[in-house]
Amino acid sequence: MFEKILIANRGEIACRVAQTCRRLSIHTVAVYSEADSGALHTALCNEAWRLGPAPARESYLRGERILEIARTSGAEAIHPGYGFLAENAGFAQACADAGLVFIGPPAAAIAAMGSKSAAKRLMSEAGVPLVPGYHGETQDLGTLAQAAHEIGYPVLIKPTAGGGGKGMHRVDEAAAFADALAAAKRAAAASFGDDRVLIEKYLLEPRHIEIQVFADRHGGVVHLFERDCSVQRRYQKVLEEAPAPGVSESLRREMGQAAVRAAQAIGYVGAGTVEFIVEPGGAFYFMEMNTRLQVEHPVTELVTGLDLVEWQVRIAAGEHLPLSQAELALRGHAFEARIYAEDPRNEFLPAPGRLDHLRMPPTGAHVRIDTGVRAGDAISVHYDPLIAKLIVWDMDRAGALRHLRHALAQFQVTGTNTNLEFLQRLASHAALVAGELDTSFIERFRNDLLPPLRRASDRVLALACLAVLLRDDETARRQAAASGDPYSPWHRTDGWVLNDDNHHTLHFHDDRADIAITAHYRPKHYLLDLPGGTVCARGTLERDTDIHAELDGMQVTATVAQRGTELTVFWEGFSHRLLLHDPLTAGMEDEIREGSLKAPMPGTVVRLLVTPGDEVTEGQPLLVLEAMKMEYTIKATTDGIIELIGFKEGEQVQEGAELLAIAST
Ligand code: ADP
Ligand code: ADP
Ligand code: MG
Repeated sequence: MFEKILIANRGEIACRVAQTCRRLSIHTVAVYSEADSGALHTALCNEAWRLGPAPARESYLRGERILEIARTSGAEAIHPGYGFLAENAGFAQACADAGLVFIGPPAAAIAAMGSKSAAKRLMSEAGVPLVPGYHGETQDLGTLAQAAHEIGYPVLIKPTAGGGGKGMHRVDEAAAFADALAAAKRAAAASFGDDRVLIEKYLLEPRHIEIQVFADRHGGVVHLFERDCSVQRRYQKVLEEAPAPGVSESLRREMGQAAVRAAQAIGYVGAGTVEFIVEPGGAFYFMEMNTRLQVEHPVTELVTGLDLVEWQVRIAAGEHLPLSQAELALRGHAFEARIYAEDPRNEFLPAPGRLDHLRMPPTGAHVRIDTGVRAGDAISVHYDPLIAKLIVWDMDRAGALRHLRHALAQFQVTGTNTNLEFLQRLASHAALVAGELDTSFIERFRNDLLPPLRRASDRVLALACLAVLLRDDETARRQAAASGDPYSPWHRTDGWVLNDDNHHTLHFHDDRADIAITAHYRPKHYLLDLPGGTVCARGTLERDTDIHAELDGMQVTATVAQRGTELTVFWEGFSHRLLLHDPLTAGMEDEIREGSLKAPMPGTVVRLLVTPGDEVTEGQPLLVLEAMKMEYTIKATTDGIIELIGFKEGEQVQEGAELLAIAST
C-alpha cells in the first residue's frame, strides 16, 4: 500500500479522495490554483502545493508541474479525480515514465476509449451491441450526409473526442444536416481540439443506464451493477439513481456482462463506467466508456456498501479485487442530486458567485453530502459550478426519494442562483416518483419543473418584515448597551420617534413588484399590514438568521439571510429573494438596475446584436458573452434606446464591466 498520494484535482472530488486516504492512513498531497488557496481540499490534505494561476490550463492541467510536485513531495501515486487530467492518456503515460503510479487505467486503455469512434469499432469486435451509426475516419460532408441518410433521421452528430455533452447536435431532416455538421465541427474543434465527429441514430425516449466496472492487474473484472442517469439537461446528468427502476435481474446481468466484456477487450484496470443507451423495449447499446471514477459513483457506494476510492487505491497498489462477482450484492436504493450554481430559468447556465450563506442538511445513515466548499467560498468562473452532491439512501426507492426531498428542503444557499428549487420539483414530480424516466424527462416536464415565478406569499413577507424589525431591535439594544445612557429614548425601537401612532413602513421589491408593508408597534408584538390583511406577528432571532415566529398564533421557524439590501427567506423548503428598499437610495438603485448592463463574469464579447441608437424592448437579446466555455446572452432589462456600447466584438471584459447602457423611453 502507498504511504503518500498526490490528488491532482480540486473541489468535492479532491475532498472525497482525501477522506478515504485519511481513513486508510495514507498521507495526502493537495495541489491548488491561486483561486483555490485556502479551499477546503487543501485543508483536508496533509500538505498543499501551489500550481499557478486560476485558469485550468495554467494550474490543474499542468501535468509537468504536478509530476514535479509529486517527486519533490515524495508521493508514490497520483489520483486524478474526474475531469482535468483523469482521461489524459499522455499524463497517465508520463506518470508511468516517471515511476509514479497513476490511480487509473493504463494509458493504452484510456487511449482506446478516448475516441468514441475507435471505441465503437473495438466494442463491435468484442460483441458489445452498438447504436446504428457511422464511426469511420472519412469526414467529408458527402460521406457523412450519405451516412445520415442511410441511418435514417433523426440522427445525432457527436464529437468523437467529446465529453460533458459538448458539441452534440440532433438533426431531424436532411436539409438541416450541413449546417448542423458545421456547427458540431466548430464546437468540437473549440472544445476538444479535434473536429472529427461520428453519427448515430437518434433514439427516441431512451434511458441512460451505465454499469460500474472494476478490474485488477491480475485479470479480475467485476461489475458493481447499474446507475440510471436519464434525468439530464444539456446532455448532462443532474439526478442519478441506483438501481435503475424497472430493470429486471436478467437485463441487469446481460448489461453487466456486456460491460465486463468491454473492459476485458481493452485490458482495463481500475474503476470505469460503461454507458449504455436503452430503448423503451429494453434493447441496450454501448455509448461510450468513461475511464475514471464518475461524478455519480456515490449512489453505487450506498447500494453496495463499498468505498470505490478505496478499491481504486488497492487495485493501483497491485492488490486483487476485494470481492468477487458472486460476493457483490445490491441493498436498498440511492439517489444523487447535483446541486449547481446555475440558473435553470436561463438554460441552466452557470451562475458563479460567493456563497454568502450556506447551510446543508445534517448527514447520517440516510443522507450524505460530498462537497468542496464552505460558507464564504466562491463558485468561480474557472471551474465546474458544482456546489455539492446530495446522496440519499433507504431500503426502497420511495423512502430514498422522501429523504431527498426532505434534505433538499434544508439546503440553504445565497449569493448565487442554484438549481435547488428545480431539484425539489423534480424529486416531487409524479412521473419521477413513478420511475417513468427517459432522457427527455426535463424537456417534457419543463413547465412543471420551472413554473412561473410566484409572488412572495403573505407569510414570507411577514417573516421578512419580522426579521428586519427584530434585527433593528437587536442593533438598537446593542447600541444602547454600549452607549453611556441605555435608557435614552433615541435607542428605543418601539417606533415612538417615527410618528405619533408608532408605525413604520417597509418597502420590498420582489422581481418586478413593489410591496409596502406597514408595521404597527404594539407592546409585545407587531401588527403587519400585508397585502392579504393584517397579521399579528412576534418572534425571536437566533444566530442573526434563524427566526422563530408566531403569526396570528401559528408558530413557524424560518431562516432569513441578509446581504446588503437583499433578503432571502428560507421557509418550508423554498427560498424567496426580496430587496429591501431604502426610500433614500431607491432612485439610485433603480438607475443601476435598469439603465446599465454589466458583465456577470469575466469573458469575451463574441457578438453584438445592436448598435447605438437602436430601440429595444425588455427581454431583447443585445450581446453575447462567452465565459466558462458557455455563451451568455445579455438581454435588455427595460424598454429603451441603446445609448452606449462599451466593447467591440472579440474584446475581453472584466466582471462588472458596463457592457451597454439603455436610456429609458
Ligand atoms: P459524468 O458522466 O461523470 O457526469 P461528465 O462528462 O459530465 O461526466 O463530466 C465529469 C466531469 O469532468 C465534470 O466535472 C466535467 O466538468 C469534467 N469534464 C468533462 N469533459 C471534460 C473535458 N473535456 N475536459 C475537462 N473536464 C471535463
Ligand atoms: P458525453 O461524452 O458528452 O457524455 P455521450 O455519448 O455519453 O456523450 O452522450 C451523452 C448523452 O447524450 C447521453 O446520456 C444521452 O442522453 C444522449 N445521447 C447520446 N447518444 C444518443 C443517441 N444515439 N440517441 C439519443 N440520445 C443520445
Ligand atoms: Mg457520456
